[in-house]
Amino acid sequence: MRYSGLKVITEGLFGNKGWTRAWRDPAPKAEYDAIIIGGGGHGLATAYYLAKNHGLTNIAVLEKGYLGSGNIGRNTTIVRANYFIPGNSEFYSHSLKLWEGLETELNYNVMHSQRGQVVLFHSDGQRDQQIRRANAIVNQGDDAEIMSVEQLRAEFPYLDYEQTRFPIYGGMMQRRAGTARHDAVAWGYARGADQRGVDLIQNCEVTGIDVENGVVRGVQTTRGPIRAKKVAMIAAGRSGQVAAMAGMRIPVESHIMQAFVTEGLKPVMDAVISYGMGHFYISQSDKGGLVFGGDIDMYASYAARGNLPMVEHVMEAGMTLMPMIGRAKVLRSWGGIMDMTPDGSPIIDKTPIEGLFIDAGWNYGGFKAVPASGWCMAHLMATGQSHEVARRFRLDRFRTGHLLDEEGTGSQHNLH
Ligand SMILES: Cc1cc2nc3c(=O)[nH]c(=O)nc-3n(C[C@H](O)[C@H](O)[C@H](O)COP(=O)(O)OP(=O)(O)OC[C@H]3O[C@@H](n4cnc5c(N)ncnc54)[C@H](O)[C@@H]3O)c2cc1C
Repeated sequence: MRYSGLKVITEGLFGNKGWTRAWRDPAPKAEYDAIIIGGGGHGLATAYYLAKNHGLTNIAVLEKGYLGSGNIGRNTTIVRANYFIPGNSEFYSHSLKLWEGLETELNYNVMHSQRGQVVLFHSDGQRDQQIRRANAIVNQGDDAEIMSVEQLRAEFPYLDYEQTRFPIYGGMMQRRAGTARHDAVAWGYARGADQRGVDLIQNCEVTGIDVENGVVRGVQTTRGPIRAKKVAMIAAGRSGQVAAMAGMRIPVESHIMQAFVTEGLKPVMDAVISYGMGHFYISQSDKGGLVFGGDIDMYASYAARGNLPMVEHVMEAGMTLMPMIGRAKVLRSWGGIMDMTPDGSPIIDKTPIEGLFIDAGWNYGGFKAVPASGWCMAHLMATGQSHEVARRFRLDRFRTGHLLDEEGTGSQHNLH
């Protein structure tokens, strides 16, 4: 079924009886050419591009819950391409270009909104750093502009520019950055993959990975064993647990991160705003709620809910940056499980086990990466070669010392 404005109108006139299910609900087969563990954004995008770009359709995505139940449906939806160091910059640039055509590509309204994102700076040193970053971003072909305090005041009059501790000196704006509706991205890729013959199998937890003489043979699941010559581990916050099923210990720690939404307000904020002196970022959803978040809770856990000290910390940062937010009531908060790597950058690579692939380590920034991650992981699985924009996301870089330390924090989790 193709979605269109005409279809919406005619269905509305005739009682909405003509819609069919967005994807099938198949039983698992005994064998596939490839299995993807994890039906999040990255797993579904990988399945979609394997089918679309490489013609591989005898594939299953195995999801232990329902599609979209993981971080793909839990994030604060910021999409941007303002990364700095080689390795990351070209990858996220590629991803943003894919975002820009995604709704047409999937025939699905993912509500991609290029409303812009501004990263504020609060000192001369930060200004220098952001100007350098902006120059690098422009040189790679993406957009970035430095905004003065006067320009910021005109666009964002509610920010506290003269706060005593962290006065605002200016900001780096990327106009092509923005937001998208997170779970619609999962649904759009799921529908596209299903249409091309991929089996999306929900409520199917992988409980073991079968390896014989260094070669992957398939997986054990709660719905029985399934054989495959290629298996991809794309389980985000559960990556460490899934890799352990193949006897691997990977450089990923799982941490909680929380998000918050206020009651619906009239339109007040038409861009994403990131605070330069605290881990705080905020946008307004199309329903009117202010959507915001902060840093990880700073202790390793598999609980998809956070704790009060980080709630207080995030609220404090919000009040410092824009005191008017104190008038809004927070309606909901939730947590997701972050797969944190020591350098804050991801992994898209083969593993030492033949036929076993890994796509993990998305930290708190993997939503914007979904299209490029799927694109590059599919390329790797189909051709056996890393895609050129993902070739530095190697699993062994932590051993060889080729870190992609985007934030300049070194290999210290507590500084991310
Ligand atoms: C609060 C919060 C805010 C965030 N904000 C942003 C943001 O603004 N911008 C941004 O770019 N990123 C953001 N992120 C990060 C982003 O959401 C993640 O990096 C990304 O979604 C992870 O990839 P995924 O979508 O594939 O993960 P998931 O959706 O978590 O997919 C992994 C799937 O694997 C499944 N699984 C696990 N184990 C098994 C098993 N044994 N068998 C079968 N299935 C299994 C899980 O159930 C899950 O559905 C945020 C995350 C959170 C939690």
